Amino acid sequence: PCTDFDVAYFHSYAHVGIHEEMIKDRIRTETYRAAIMQQRSSIEGKVVVDVGCGTGILSIFCAQAGAKRVYAVDASDISVQANEVVKANNLSDKIIVLHGRVEDVEIEEEVDVIISEWMGYMLLYESMLGSVITARDRWLKPGGLILPSNATLYMAPVTHPDRYGESIDFWRNVYGIDMSAMLSLAKQCAFEEPSVETISGENVLTWPHVVKHVDCYTIQIHELQSVTTRYKFKSMMRAPLHGFAFWFDVEFSGPALCPANYHAPSSLTGSLNNDSINGTQSKKRANPNEALVLSTAPEDPPTHWQQTLIYFYDPIEVEQDQLIEGGLTLSQSKENPRFMNIHLEYASGGRSFVKESVMR
Ligand code: SAH
Repeated sequence: PCTDFDVAYFHSYAHVGIHEEMIKDRIRTETYRAAIMQQRSSIEGKVVVDVGCGTGILSIFCAQAGAKRVYAVDASDISVQANEVVKANNLSDKIIVLHGRVEDVEIEEEVDVIISEWMGYMLLYESMLGSVITARDRWLKPGGLILPSNATLYMAPVTHPDRYGESIDFWRNVYGIDMSAMLSLAKQCAFEEPSVETISGENVLTWPHVVKHVDCYTIQIHELQSVTTRYKFKSMMRAPLHGFAFWFDVEFSGPALCPANYHAPSSLTGSLNNDSINGTQSKKRANPNEALVLSTAPEDPPTHWQQTLIYFYDPIEVEQDQLIEGGLTLSQSKENPRFMNIHLEYASGGRSFVKESVMR
């Protein structure tokens, strides 16, 4: 059923700003376009459904790649504009805009391809992946193509003295006045909730841990209600540990039934290099079968997703090779299924902590 939460959620996508931000993210949009063109042979003459079409941009890329028909589905009022855009580009004979949820609209045929840009902050925030799964189970032909085909969420310990300094240490001396009395409130306000910001590879203390790998062909909705992992890091540096960073990548590979097209997820690096900003993608062209990767890692060019940081209220001084270990559970909030509860346990140097937060 369509809840009040859904109404508010779809309303937020009726504003131009959110679509502008996504479309101006060239890493995002050009990687999708390149992936659609790379999979041209699976799209030409085929039927596609675009799950959450927004302004219709991915549907149009699919039409440009030769799709026979594209069902562009969006429950937000932005679908009114999508329909106008389709008409203005003379694609009304190919692209059928459906205003409604993928859970509710009817499509009278099976589809060969599902395309969707469903990824939220920390990958799973917004919980839109469930709608892609629903579309897959309702309409995708056996052996059909899903783009992106898999996704991986990573976490790693980070140091961020600048950020900590400007939000917290700042209060120690304000115009010569000792304002340390502000410290606990400042920590609470700055670090209670996860924060979306851009860090660099230099903030990251060691190799990331895979929190969750999602195969879009096989994942089931119940697997997303709660995701739990245990991790163990060994810091490569001596530094104050300020918290953990989260990021993800998604990979665009061919149909699951063709193992030759399957590639293990690229981990830290992602394989989208700086070249792709300029549209050259030289590395990718060298091997046309290599899956394209859209990476939001700190060492890759920034995207509108940035990284998500969970800060500790107080840093932990770690030595080189010191262990940092614990567990993490991400679960759908009962208050609002679009929110995400984050239960984080961490221990290092003989002390252990628990931090609960909610991403709203
Ligand atoms: N494909 C567009 C927009 C991506 S944003 C682009 O790449 O630019 C995600 C879109 O999915 C939003 O417009 C949102 O309204 C829509 N959406 C999310 N869940 C949906 C659902 N269950 N049914 C239909 N549309 C949905």
